[in-house]
Amino acid sequence: MHPDLEKMIVLQALDVECRRLNDEMAAIPKRVAKLAAEGDAAKKQLAAIVEGLAKEEALRRRQESDVKDHQSKAARLRKQMDVVTTTAQVAALEHEIAFAEGEVSRLEDAELESMERTESLEAQKKDAEETVANLTRRHAEERTSGADALARDRVLLDEVEAKRKDLRPQIGEDSLSIYDRIAKSRGTALAEGVDQKCSACQMVVRPQRWNDLRERSNDETMLTCESCGRLLYWDPARDAPQKKQAQKESIAASIVRASL
Ligand SMILES: [Zn+2]
Repeated sequence: MHPDLEKMIVLQALDVECRRLNDEMAAIPKRVAKLAAEGDAAKKQLAAIVEGLAKEEALRRRQESDVKDHQSKAARLRKQMDVVTTTAQVAALEHEIAFAEGEVSRLEDAELESMERTESLEAQKKDAEETVANLTRRHAEERTSGADALARDRVLLDEVEAKRKDLRPQIGEDSLSIYDRIAKSRGTALAEGVDQKCSACQMVVRPQRWNDLRERSNDETMLTCESCGRLLYWDPARDAPQKKQAQKESIAASIVRASL
């Protein structure tokens, strides 16, 4: 294997870890903010329910007072019945009494409907209060655990960054510039060849190239995947099915060499 390739395999692992840590560190405050926003939304919903309950209560107070008005009006009208003399006056009073009584029963029905709405709002209020409490607790937990995770990630990131800074100058300038160029466009610059496939893009490596990759293990040339352009490497220790074959071949080769 090209000597730079070995170092670049380590560099890529460090770069991937760096990215993972940075992503994780960026995700933590977002998670906290999301819970805070959800908590605010739940509080607003609860406030709207509480407002709805207050409105229903005010409505019922008005309805009760209107009921009393209509009831006393009906009572007053009934008393007037004793003193009126003409049929027309009786009819007019009866009409008014009927209207007042109709209003009383209409208002009482409306009051019942309002009480049903209140009952449903009370249930919603209980749920909303639970949601607010849960989100408040989760937000507090996430803020604490998030702060811990951030501090831990920062330490890890510093360590990984230090290793990267130490490793990069050990890699040849040309190799490093190839690495950086591919990493920039592809995310990762290297791909392991496993089972005659590029492990990054899953495309099959052509047999000749695959043989080159495996056999010319000390070659100075770095092979790329024809499909994704990443630098290919082959690790006999990891490519298990090939390992036995490689061992067999190397044993065979040494037998051949010994016999020459
Ligand atoms: Zn590929």
